[in-house]
Amino acid sequence: MLTPVRWPSDLRSIYKENTKVTTKKGRVFSGARPTGRQHLGNYLGAIQNYVALQEEFESIYCIVDIHALTTVETTQDLKTNTREMTLDWLAAGMDPEKSIIFVQSHVPEVMELHTILSMVTPLGKLTALPTFKEKVRKNPNNVNYGLVGYPVLMTADIVLYKATTVPVGVDQFPHVEFAREVVRSFNYRYDTDVLLEPKSKATQVPKVIGIDGENKMSKSLDNHIELTATPEETEKRVMQMVTDPQRKRLSDPGDPDVCNVFTLHKIFTPQEEVAQINIDCRQAEIGCVACKRRFAKSLNRELAPFRARRAEFDAKEGYIREVLVDGAKRAQTIAAQTMGEVRAAIGFYEV
Ligand code: SF4
Repeated sequence: MLTPVRWPSDLRSIYKENTKVTTKKGRVFSGARPTGRQHLGNYLGAIQNYVALQEEFESIYCIVDIHALTTVETTQDLKTNTREMTLDWLAAGMDPEKSIIFVQSHVPEVMELHTILSMVTPLGKLTALPTFKEKVRKNPNNVNYGLVGYPVLMTADIVLYKATTVPVGVDQFPHVEFAREVVRSFNYRYDTDVLLEPKSKATQVPKVIGIDGENKMSKSLDNHIELTATPEETEKRVMQMVTDPQRKRLSDPGDPDVCNVFTLHKIFTPQEEVAQINIDCRQAEIGCVACKRRFAKSLNRELAPFRARRAEFDAKEGYIREVLVDGAKRAQTIAAQTMGEVRAAIGFYEV
């Protein structure tokens, strides 16, 4: 066992003062790859949750562009995608006054911590993870070192910022459990308690089905509806949506319970109208074309304020850069403090 080099007590108290979790329920961290313009699935599955959490937690939201390198074929769109995604996040209500919003590569300490954590993580653990096997299946021609180590980088993301809480769907619990194991391994190896074990926070992550009526909404499957599409583009996409597959003609009664249009109506259309559609569909009083038009109308109405805000932010010269620079500065303050403690715990020769 290595004898840990302790942080001088006076600095340690300053550290605690600067990084203590000061908010009501703790500090949340979540990251998402820079996928450019966001779609309804991104909004309902993640963004609206981020917006809600920032009221209760000290929130840190990160665009994980380094993670993206493990699988992307080209970085040609990386800059644009990062900017577009930030615009969507802000327009949807993620507030840089309430949350730290930044880009992963702007705080390079995460790569240092990743390297350090990789040395307390057995390789066998990483290659046995179902997510690794899944990634190998999807990228058989690019099984790179980063792909194996990505859960370690993910752990570094969380613990670098002393996050106490990671909002995830139940299927993501093993990822957070893995991060906890890495933290325990580090703390045990260096006989320290500098890294915090994060906890999962179960969130309702609805599986939003794409316009094909079958698969999860996704850009790569081209079955998505972008938040920032024009009203005309939105209507065009909605009109392509698959409805109740058993309903062949207008005179057939439909079943809203198996119809993706109806599922989304319930979210975006006033409840009275939804109740009426439910009745009319079952009695063949409304056709799918008319129903989809009404959905497009609801969706466009609900997205109008988002689109207006987005256009406003987009037109503000330098605004996105400003938000991200400020976010990176705030994130880096926490990261530098954590790394100081990590280096001291390891016992590096400090100059
Ligand atoms: Fe779906 Fe509406 Fe068609 Fe019924 S009428 S099957 S709810 S699209």
